[in-house]
Amino acid sequence: MVIAHTLGFPRIGARRELKWALEDYWSGKMDAGALQTAARDLRRRHWDLQRHAGLDLVTAGDFSLYDHVLDVTTLVGAVPARFGAADGLIDLDTYFRMARGRAPRGRDAPACAMTKWFDTNYHYIVPELHAGQRFRLARGEIFEEVADAVSQGHRVKATLVGPLTYLWLSRVHDGEPLALLPELVLAYRDILRGVAAAGAEWVQLDEPILALELPSAWLDAFESAYHRLRPHPLKVMVATYFGALAENTGAALTLPIDGIHVDLVRAPSQLDAVLDRINDTRVLSLGLIDGRNVWRADLDRALELARRARARLGDRIWIAPSCSLLHVPIDVAAEQALHPELRGWLAFATQKLHELTILRSALTAGDAGVGEPLAEARARRRQRLTSPATVNAGVRERERGITQAMCTRGQPHPIRRQLQQARLQLPLLPTTTIGSFPQTAELRRARRDHREGRIDEAAYRERLRAEIAQVIRAQEDYGLDVLVHGEPERGDMVEYFGENLEGVALTASGWVQSYGSRCVRPPIIFGDVRRPRPITVDWTRYAQSLTPKPVKGMLTGPVTLLQWSYARDDLPAESICMQLALAVRDEVMDLEAAGTAIIQIDEPALREGLPLRRRDRAPYLQIAARAFGLCTGGVGAGTQIHTHMCYSEFRDILATIREMDADVVTIEAARSGTGLLQALRAAGYPNDIGPGVYDIHTPRQPSEEEIMRRARQLLEVLPAGQLWLNPDCGLKTRRWEDIEAPLRRLVTCARRLRETCHASVRRRAAGA
Ligand code: GLN
Ligand code: ZN
Repeated sequence: MVIAHTLGFPRIGARRELKWALEDYWSGKMDAGALQTAARDLRRRHWDLQRHAGLDLVTAGDFSLYDHVLDVTTLVGAVPARFGAADGLIDLDTYFRMARGRAPRGRDAPACAMTKWFDTNYHYIVPELHAGQRFRLARGEIFEEVADAVSQGHRVKATLVGPLTYLWLSRVHDGEPLALLPELVLAYRDILRGVAAAGAEWVQLDEPILALELPSAWLDAFESAYHRLRPHPLKVMVATYFGALAENTGAALTLPIDGIHVDLVRAPSQLDAVLDRINDTRVLSLGLIDGRNVWRADLDRALELARRARARLGDRIWIAPSCSLLHVPIDVAAEQALHPELRGWLAFATQKLHELTILRSALTAGDAGVGEPLAEARARRRQRLTSPATVNAGVRERERGITQAMCTRGQPHPIRRQLQQARLQLPLLPTTTIGSFPQTAELRRARRDHREGRIDEAAYRERLRAEIAQVIRAQEDYGLDVLVHGEPERGDMVEYFGENLEGVALTASGWVQSYGSRCVRPPIIFGDVRRPRPITVDWTRYAQSLTPKPVKGMLTGPVTLLQWSYARDDLPAESICMQLALAVRDEVMDLEAAGTAIIQIDEPALREGLPLRRRDRAPYLQIAARAFGLCTGGVGAGTQIHTHMCYSEFRDILATIREMDADVVTIEAARSGTGLLQALRAAGYPNDIGPGVYDIHTPRQPSEEEIMRRARQLLEVLPAGQLWLNPDCGLKTRRWEDIEAPLRRLVTCARRLRETCHASVRRRAAGA
């Protein structure tokens, strides 16, 4: 019998039950007991779904109240000192304070950093460890979850991030991550013992770093760590995904473990190498169903791979999605409003579980044994690949006509800077924000009322205009220099453009977790992309009519649109990206024609989309820079182009940032120090930069001293003439009462710094 399993299931709930429960808990409307009950109900429901679909093992431990990396951090008791860790078990509020900086109980403290999980749009909480770090079991969640699944009558595979991947993702103060491994492995041994005692048969340790280029010390450490994990009472499967094992194949396949999972969606060609090297006792779990996209699988292709593996390994093969289903929505059945043809092309997490069981039946009983579902899967897929709804001849024509000249600004930055300064008359250290202002409950309600037809278009627009007017007034009141309209018309920066582009579809309930309780509904790019009419011009024009200060036009860039959507798989990513860039370019040109002097094109996803292996990066970056260039290459030198990127490590894309040639780039920096700026300076980055001096990803308000300290740090690295002062990112997730004081403080700091800068210039002039 071939076992079917999943590496993980989405936790948020089909109706985002977890989100609502968390937010009620944080705001004091729900107590801890009720939160735990809501969480348990979700887990049980998801196990039932797996069981009902015919999976042989259910997965426990994939659930999390905030993040699965933070779960390990607290499980092994690695709480940074500022959260006041006691010796006993770590309580729920300490857990949330690490994630968000605050919780219903306990003193506020700066939250731990957050960054993207490999090349996905999921954020994990970065473990903060230090040299000599001790580990101890400090939370019991995973054991309770396993026991609960067992009590529900399931066969259970527990899962958590493996020790090497955990250390790889950690920041270790004053020390080498690998030096912590021996201690950590001891803690993992205790975890495995506990999980076994709770009744699990297997544990799946996720080690996606095996799909990266690893230093040899790390590869060697795998061997010793997994040896030292033994003897353990339960079977261990190491899960790899997001790419091929490649040069790590040998090392991965000789680990002293009972099974290994490989991603055959991203890397189907690794199957033969894996089959050649796997020994004769180990289980091979085949990742055959795409956990990163929403299309129905090509089951024939998957069957072909599975049959090849089965011919060699018999029933030692398992079948699974390529990675956890965390990255796809839960159920297509909720999408009754989608065009039925398109709906028929899709498979979300629940459907993917069923695809697995179709595969298994076909494998064991032959095609005839499954008949109808397999035939239907084939027909739907064929229909998508031949549908006229996915092709637009005009778009293909434009794409062929793209030239290098279209992708380059006419004048170099020094000349542009002069012209722009003459036009904008900005002070030294200009202050601005990243675009969005708080999305209040009233705004969200208005959007919902509009979507569901309770208020008409005119009333909705009136509501948004009132909001824009208020946002402009507030910014003038705070004293900011470059204003924004606040983005009240967008629930989400990608979704909104998706709604306004042809070739892109939106789901009603296709929510996917981004971080904590935050979810996004990624658009589905199913056909050629075209912008039928201007999208943001009216809003920007209206905002500008209310103030003499410049208002930035605010757009989402092509790489981010692509990266945060589910993309069609029947066209190269480059084509999709260029089609999106053409649409953004049209919008940029219309904004400029409407008199907009500053246009910001956000590319927060550029860095995370970077291929995981170095050798794949150059082509990706080239496309990214060219696409950005295509968006902006048509505007005059006096139009100032901004871009914004957030939450990542940028050092490896500096050359690309430079090539993009934005007049101003605003970036995340408040949580991550000045390392990036040092690198920018070392690289001689010439254009203007606005490193965030106010971390908006937590509700905590920075004091004036904190903002001042950060700004001074920036000034030590870069000249004032090159710097802007701004928050890290958009303010949409914050409340008005949380942002007012920090924004005023930001302006005060800018004013004080301007005086010192001017004074020092005067002093220098006097001394000369
Ligand atoms: N302009 C967007 C906003 O302010 C940028 C968001 C982002 O970088 N993720 O919300
Ligand atoms: Zn951002």
